[in-house]
Amino acid sequence: MIEYENLALANKPYLNEFREAFNDVLKRGWFILGTHVQSFEKKFAAFVGSRACVGVASGLDALTLSLRAYRFGRGSEVIVPSNTYIATILSIVENGLRPVLVEPDPATCNIDPTRIEDAVTSKTCAIMVVHLYGKPCDMDPIMEIAQRKGLRVIEDCAQSHGALYRGRQTGTFGDAGAFSFYPTKNLGGLGDGGAVTTNDPVFEATIRKTRNYGSEKKYHSEVLGVNSRLDELQAAFLEVKLQHLHEITAHKRSLAELYLRNLKSDFRLPAVHKDYVDVYHIFNVRHPRRDALRDHLTRGGIGTEIHYPVPPHRQTAMKGICDQGSYPISDDIHSTTLSLPISLCHTPDDVLKVIERMNAF
Ligand SMILES: *Cc1c(COP(=O)(O)O)cnc(C)c1O
Repeated sequence: MIEYENLALANKPYLNEFREAFNDVLKRGWFILGTHVQSFEKKFAAFVGSRACVGVASGLDALTLSLRAYRFGRGSEVIVPSNTYIATILSIVENGLRPVLVEPDPATCNIDPTRIEDAVTSKTCAIMVVHLYGKPCDMDPIMEIAQRKGLRVIEDCAQSHGALYRGRQTGTFGDAGAFSFYPTKNLGGLGDGGAVTTNDPVFEATIRKTRNYGSEKKYHSEVLGVNSRLDELQAAFLEVKLQHLHEITAHKRSLAELYLRNLKSDFRLPAVHKDYVDVYHIFNVRHPRRDALRDHLTRGGIGTEIHYPVPPHRQTAMKGICDQGSYPISDDIHSTTLSLPISLCHTPDDVLKVIERMNAF
């Protein structure tokens, strides 16, 4: 059996380092916003190449607090890809803003820059790009439109830790980068966690206060805040994991290379382009008979996932919010996409077995 993911195995190489980190936190006896959060924030900002990083409780909170920091007027519109994970859209709705869905480029599955301008109205305040599956969006034309139209850009980097667009990391292009450290992500903790990256000191200060009841100084509330802190323990584990992120990424990229080289041409494979360094959070293939393909792999003892089975505009929760338009490209991706095993726990041999079974379909 080749599982889609096994987090016990994927974290096994780091057990001793995790134990040391755990012991250090226990010994210090300081569990919220301590030295590990501070040093992880510094290291992650340096890794990404942004001026600052603020740890928060989850990827969803990183997105929600980033939008909240700008205090956009109620009902303002945020442009977002029609095929994103629901969290991106929830962060918009949570702030009393209106998601405006824009179709992806079918080749990359990322927001199509040529479709953005038509979606801009006098109410548009921001573009939320999503570097889906670990592949960066085409940021140059997106930033050009944003600058020309005076729009904020928030990057959903939950799947793209370390991905590069024209040599620069995701999370450094827009006003803010929102990261998730959910256990399955490329940089995954042993629980929930998230972070916001930014080059803007004023924005950074706002997020720092907002995540902790609105106070920078204890018991002095300057803004209306929430409780959304990155745990000291998770920060300590993430410091361990961050040191190994290059290996994790290199491993996933080498497995992707095997798939790309050896899968037969019946499958639509992720686009490869010299301007993009894809970190393959997810390796998705597309096939018109996706469900039959998935059954065929299951019968061969191979676990797969679907990212995602239901597009945002067809979600029950989105009735009356963004269920009006028609999004055929998003519908097509959702009905044909299949995610293949590509974890640190998989060996090249596992992937060759998946390829063999795939090519027999
Ligand atoms: C995982 C994910 C999120 C949410 O992150 P959490 O840490 O689970 O809140 C947001 N956007 C995308 C694209 C994701 O994959």
